Amino acid sequence: MIPAIYFDGHASHATRVHVWRDDAMLRWRRTDRAREWDVPLASVEPSARVTGLPFVLHLANGAHLQIEHDLLPDDWFPRHHRLERLVDWLERRWVAALVSVVIVVVSLLGLFEFGLPWAADRIATRLPHALETSMGRQSLVALEGRLLLPTTLGPARQAHLQAVFRHFVDGVPGLPVVELKFYASPAIGANAFALPDGSIVFTDALAKAVPDDQAFLAVIAHELGHQAGHHMLRQVLRSSGVFIVAGMMMGDVTSLGGVATGIPMFLIDSHYSRRFEEDADAFAFRTLAQRDIDPVAFVHAMQALQRAHPELKGGTGLRYVSSHPLNDQRIARANEASRRYQANRQAPSSR
Ligand SMILES: [Zn+2]
Repeated sequence: MIPAIYFDGHASHATRVHVWRDDAMLRWRRTDRAREWDVPLASVEPSARVTGLPFVLHLANGAHLQIEHDLLPDDWFPRHHRLERLVDWLERRWVAALVSVVIVVVSLLGLFEFGLPWAADRIATRLPHALETSMGRQSLVALEGRLLLPTTLGPARQAHLQAVFRHFVDGVPGLPVVELKFYASPAIGANAFALPDGSIVFTDALAKAVPDDQAFLAVIAHELGHQAGHHMLRQVLRSSGVFIVAGMMMGDVTSLGGVATGIPMFLIDSHYSRRFEEDADAFAFRTLAQRDIDPVAFVHAMQALQRAHPELKGGTGLRYVSSHPLNDQRIARANEASRRYQANRQAPSSR
């Protein structure tokens, strides 16, 4: 017999009773045995099992029996709420609870690790061009006078590099409209970067460090790779967090303001993912070879930068090297691209 509390559905007071099952009947009687009741078990409507709450057996006419959760035998209502019984079983087992927590945490990590980049990439490559243009302009305006100061390169040097740049990009098919802009920038040192509007910003320090036009073009080709792959926008969106990305997916254009301020922040203390750098390198090697320039020029540019500023190795003055880490693998790939280029040149024409 199981202790329970009986409410008859009319009076509000509770009666202490004992309940038991007698085949197909449910019986209960007052603890002082002064009165006894019974109903067919099949007519009883049990409540859902919820750990920590008393179990309620609904009877006819609003009467009900209340039983401590743990006391109800499983075989009284064996087929009822099978799912609830499973949930109840799970709730009682802390291992299951712990596993659920782990699953939730892993899902969240997966969302940040893969879901966010995926969403950021979709947005970055589907934004209307006019929006990309306005974001690039906004960030350039935010940078000018602060990080980016008027260039100190002589007019002849500028004109020469502009001509070399124009001649190069005009021969590369499939590029968006691009524009080369020179700035003095003690803050970001020898650096170049591609903004979403098609601007390629090139600092005076970098222009002075490149040993020749081919090394200059090697850096340009790498930046064109970032440009063609929308890398700046993708990287900034990836690092601006869930809310901006989610906002933009919902069509909230004001989130763009957050992206425009994210670009200067990116330039000061962030860098592209390794994957983007590899993509930009591959683009550069391919494009240089197509324009009949040996991809080894990229290695020359990097080496010249380090030679020109040995005292700045790893420091902020060498941003192009520190935000584009020069490692053996990249040099090996550039040299490999160079060998392929040489081999293609020396191969006799099939025509
Ligand atoms: Zn890069």
